[in-house]
Amino acid sequence: MNASFRYFFYYFSVYRRRIYLGIFLSVCFSIIGPLKPKIIQLILDETVKTVEFTVIYLLIGLFLLVTILETAIRYKFQLYTAEFSQQIVMNLRNELFDKIIHLPQRYFDQTKVGILATRTISDVETINDLLTNTFFSLITDFLTIFIVLGFMFYIDVPLTLMSLLVLPFVIILTYVFKEQNRKLNHVIRRVIGELAGFIQENLRGLKIIKAYRAEDFQNQKHQDLVKDFYDANFKTIKSFSWFLPLMEIAVTLSTIFFICLLAYRTSTLQSIDIGKVSAFVLYIQMLYRPIRFIADRFNVVQSSVVALERIYEMLQLKTEDTSYRLELKEIKGTIKIENLSFCYQDKFPIINNVTLNIPSGKTTAIVGNTGSGKTTLINLILRLYDGYDGRITLDDVNIQEYHLNRYRQAFSVVNQDVFILSGTILENLQFGNLNITEQGVLDMINTMNLQGILSGFEDGLSQKISANSGSLSFGQRQVISIFRAILQQKQIIVLDEATASIDSNTEALIQRMMGLLMKDKTALVIAHRISTIVDAHQIVVMNQGRIEAIGTHEVLLEKSEVYQQFFERILEK
Ligand code: ATP
Ligand code: MG
Repeated sequence: MNASFRYFFYYFSVYRRRIYLGIFLSVCFSIIGPLKPKIIQLILDETVKTVEFTVIYLLIGLFLLVTILETAIRYKFQLYTAEFSQQIVMNLRNELFDKIIHLPQRYFDQTKVGILATRTISDVETINDLLTNTFFSLITDFLTIFIVLGFMFYIDVPLTLMSLLVLPFVIILTYVFKEQNRKLNHVIRRVIGELAGFIQENLRGLKIIKAYRAEDFQNQKHQDLVKDFYDANFKTIKSFSWFLPLMEIAVTLSTIFFICLLAYRTSTLQSIDIGKVSAFVLYIQMLYRPIRFIADRFNVVQSSVVALERIYEMLQLKTEDTSYRLELKEIKGTIKIENLSFCYQDKFPIINNVTLNIPSGKTTAIVGNTGSGKTTLINLILRLYDGYDGRITLDDVNIQEYHLNRYRQAFSVVNQDVFILSGTILENLQFGNLNITEQGVLDMINTMNLQGILSGFEDGLSQKISANSGSLSFGQRQVISIFRAILQQKQIIVLDEATASIDSNTEALIQRMMGLLMKDKTALVIAHRISTIVDAHQIVVMNQGRIEAIGTHEVLLEKSEVYQQFFERILEK
């Protein structure tokens, strides 16, 4: 048994008792259904034979009883299996999301895994289909076929054989249909995935598309994708449109064959067995109905196997290592970096033998050209990536030894590209930290005299904002993200300043907020603002992954040529 099957075998075995009961119920109604034609046969036989009405009434009563029982069991069964199938699906979804959100950043730098992650979420839908519509139905279908055959043979062997004449043909037909559909299903699934990705990407980049007048170009791409979708869907419908009528013909042929034999018998024996005829007509219908669905159900089983394997693969991925249990208690906030080297994808080092002391309670500014490795350095300090050479310590303990969650909780982070969630401003400020209340935020705004934060928002803190950049100006986004960091009140501040410039009012507000944010904290700032740079306790000049020079503004202006050039460029802006 392969590993993914073993995994899910145990996974599903938690629901063992419910699965058994589900199977039991499906067995029940596979048996009860085929009883009905038999009862009809008995009723008709009695009617023809006797004038004994009590037996007929009894049989009709039995028929009613069986029908009610069948309906009741079907109702119970459907409710029951749906309930626990949905539970399994819900758990799987939660587990997967939990997994994905805890995967190391590195996984998402490689788009392949990123796609795998989202695709796996849609794979759960296949499992849903398997559990709600397929698994138990397959059992019922097969059992029904065998039990109906059993009844038919029991009633009349030659008649049964006669009606089964077309069966080989039906089996071949079903197989061909199944194969055709499997391939089409595959195409449809792929195109749906691509289409969803395409639309999402385009909506996100809509401004650029408009700016470049690329609407027609994107439209064409979209049309091509949709055409694939159309073709595959149309082919599926076509394959159904030949399969279902052919199955209908098969049923008719079966009926004709057995009527031929019946006609022959009637002519020789001079009598016709009405009961048998009725039962057989019903049984033939009952026999071929499940066969019609089996093809489709097998396809679901097949794609479920693939889906389960992918889900398994995802669940087996290693999440961020949270095994080191060293707690962070009193954080002084001294960070030391010793001989640090790092590459993203094994090629050239992005950080090259960096050694740096970041003193507690002071501001360290990092400057350097684009691509010199500033953000990367911060990513390493935040433990977004591991697998580097050298050592990073916080308060003289290797950062790898801290419990990851506790460790990250020591930081307030303001990113280069501000992340806004869809929701209210308050929710964006809380960012999961419910200790921050609306009143608390308002008090903070008043005591710090930061009323400017809410200017432009009619509804104040409860103003709804949307995740895409549409509803907020660049300055507003920055203000929110810096205020978010202030509210978190962490000992260490990590700030990747955005480069774009903003109006002087907002700029003044932001500078004041930065001052408040970094006051008495260990602050590590990738700086682009003159004020931040000049006021910093020490400035680190980075160049192509190395540290070019360290010092205060005055010292560096004298000592470092790279810094001089850098500073001139900032002044020009
Ligand atoms: P900027 O001032 O433009 O923000 P930076 O100094 O912050 O630049 P980094 O983002 O650290 O620069 O990038 C340094 C180098 O690492 C760049 O050459 C970049 O292409 C590369 N790089 C950054 N992130 C990744 C990643 N996730 N995978 C691979 N390479 C990366
Ligand atoms: Mg950067």
